[in-house]
Amino acid sequence: MEVDLDAIVDNWRQLCRRVAPATCSAVVKADAYGLGSAEVAAALARAGCSIFFVALPGEGAAIRRAVGPKPTVAILGGYFPEAKALYRSGVLSPVLNTVGQIAAWQTDSSSVGIRPYLHVDSGINRLGLAPAEWAALCRQPDAVSRLDPAGIISHLACADEPDHPMNAAQLARFTEVLAQSPADPPASLANSSGIFLGPGYHFGLARPGAALYGLNPTPGQANPMRPVVRLRGRVLQVRHIDRGEAVGYGATYIAPSDRKLATIAVGYADGLLRASGNRGRVFCQSSDAPIVGRVSMDMITIDITEAAQNAVSPGDMVDVIGPHRDVDAVAADAGTIGYEILTALGQRFQRRYVGGAGS
Ligand SMILES: *Cc1c(COP(=O)(O)O)cnc(C)c1O
Repeated sequence: MEVDLDAIVDNWRQLCRRVAPATCSAVVKADAYGLGSAEVAAALARAGCSIFFVALPGEGAAIRRAVGPKPTVAILGGYFPEAKALYRSGVLSPVLNTVGQIAAWQTDSSSVGIRPYLHVDSGINRLGLAPAEWAALCRQPDAVSRLDPAGIISHLACADEPDHPMNAAQLARFTEVLAQSPADPPASLANSSGIFLGPGYHFGLARPGAALYGLNPTPGQANPMRPVVRLRGRVLQVRHIDRGEAVGYGATYIAPSDRKLATIAVGYADGLLRASGNRGRVFCQSSDAPIVGRVSMDMITIDITEAAQNAVSPGDMVDVIGPHRDVDAVAADAGTIGYEILTALGQRFQRRYVGGAGS
């Protein structure tokens, strides 16, 4: 597995240009979407990224070690009082999502000097203060000024569907939320796809994750981001089978004619979802080869009968993810989204990071 840190940095810079004069942060939760949060965050910090978002305080502590003392590290899950020591030692900013989290933070944070973010739900109904809770908080301007928020955020439900009416509805609701606020810190609404909804969605701070890692933030249109991941699998064995022979567990594939197969050393334990069995493809030599039979834990079998793939032999490598098969295509084959493919990538690949020296 090869992770191109220069491509991640380039993607971040492209998004910075798109949202300027707003600030562009980086969302590096879930181990930077499976790609290695220490390496990714360090490369982005060297390139000048000053705000990182993760989901959990343990993730935040790891990011702090990777980026040093200067950048802001914010915890989207909010404030977990039992991890108080981690917030303090790591200087982690909670994104306060509930009235209870605000109260717990106010109790625990006196004289710590860490600025929290506030999260107001604008319609996804997942996380964040309800608008009425927000309005009640705004009626106590002292409470807000004591919190000294570093920002006010909300999250879009349908940003990857530009024509969905939820986008405009959430924008309107978030604009009302900001109008009530007694404090005026940077506001933040856009994830990766939200950035591409236009400048009206940018406010003071953008929070992209997926687009940094090369996923297409504009589904249905050409991908404006650079690809980041290449995952290659080794050919372990090549065999000929006769018409009528079965392949793999459950004998779910029956050869309709004499076929040539290759067995590849990548399986579901590596994140190649079992749903790809008899549906997915890999790039072999110069064209796609279909996965035949079920995906097993450590292996897949592919059909290499086509002339273009016939020369493949043990020891050769095929691309499971690469320039000719991007993560979104692999996801579509398995009936899911690129986010799930990346975060499911296993831990046993030889990982190679290229670039990222910063300049
Ligand atoms: C994960 C997440 C993001 C990043 O979303 P992408 O679609 O990956 O860009 C931004 N904001 C919040 C609150 C998130 O949970």
